[in-house]
Amino acid sequence: MEEIKVEKKLCILCMEEHGIRTVKMSETEEFKGTSVEFEAVYEYCDQTDELLETEEYIKSNSLAMKDAYRRKVGLLTSDEIIAIREKYKLSQKNFSEVLDWGRATITRYENHQVQDRAHDDVLRKINSDPKWMLQMLDRARDKIPSSALNSSLLVAKEEFSKMHNQYLIDSIQSIYANLHDEDMTGGVQLNLNKVVEIINYFATKIKSLHKVKLMKMLWYADYLNYKRHEKSITGLVYGALPMGAVPKGSEVIIDLDGIKYEEVLYDHVAYRFLPVEGIEFNSLTNEEVDTLETVIAEVGDLNTQDIIKKMHSEEAYKCTSANEIISFKYADQLSID
Ligand SMILES: [Zn+2]
Repeated sequence: MEEIKVEKKLCILCMEEHGIRTVKMSETEEFKGTSVEFEAVYEYCDQTDELLETEEYIKSNSLAMKDAYRRKVGLLTSDEIIAIREKYKLSQKNFSEVLDWGRATITRYENHQVQDRAHDDVLRKINSDPKWMLQMLDRARDKIPSSALNSSLLVAKEEFSKMHNQYLIDSIQSIYANLHDEDMTGGVQLNLNKVVEIINYFATKIKSLHKVKLMKMLWYADYLNYKRHEKSITGLVYGALPMGAVPKGSEVIIDLDGIKYEEVLYDHVAYRFLPVEGIEFNSLTNEEVDTLETVIAEVGDLNTQDIIKKMHSEEAYKCTSANEIISFKYADQLSID
């Protein structure tokens, strides 16, 4: 047992005044059929060699045991529940109202009762999905005071706007959920960090990097890397569009955090990509950077028309029907080595 503090007061075990130690010790208890180990706290009288569990410690030990159980079975702990509620600036009662649970439910979960799995899922979703929280708050409009509602709405909206990039990522992931054949992906999982870094790498080295050219350069980079090392870099899947290869989800990809472009008006609106200040290339390997350098050397100087022409002459493009996915199986015939 480990000593936390010593305090001189009347000891109700030996009925004398002396220094009473507060101690912490590891205990194991059975809870809902699961054996749980946790740290319990007691007062200790060394005159009688007895432990005293005061009312305060009865509560906190029970909570420690239940939190250990929650951790063990993968439920939110009481502190995590408190943190979610406080994030949304709600009282225990108002939070229960918003969730449409019994009024004291949250108070119980924060103090002594282990939540069931269904409620745990709801709390997790509230935490990670501010859009859903906004809907819940809207539903509770008439049930909680408007001042409480408004301050919580403000937080949920702020969290929602912070999620923008995550929603873009989710939307790209959903496009890719069914695209996993090695022929399509080049044998690697979609890695959006690498995509962002490559776009910046190209934008750093190429003065006027427009969208059509960028899309082709991404394809050349993945395809060349596959030819050299039997795996692509990004896991992007490319379709054969009239102007050449274009990654699936490209219109969402270019809006990801860490990608910068400006709109330039010629006879039509074009996107010119610019490097983001302070960008670091941490997720690219040296081998991959070598591939990028070769692509820049081979096609970096071509204008849009010329790179489309080059793309049209690639076997991989010629062998793919319009709008179909370009397979990596033609990589050994790529015009670049
Ligand atoms: Zn004593």
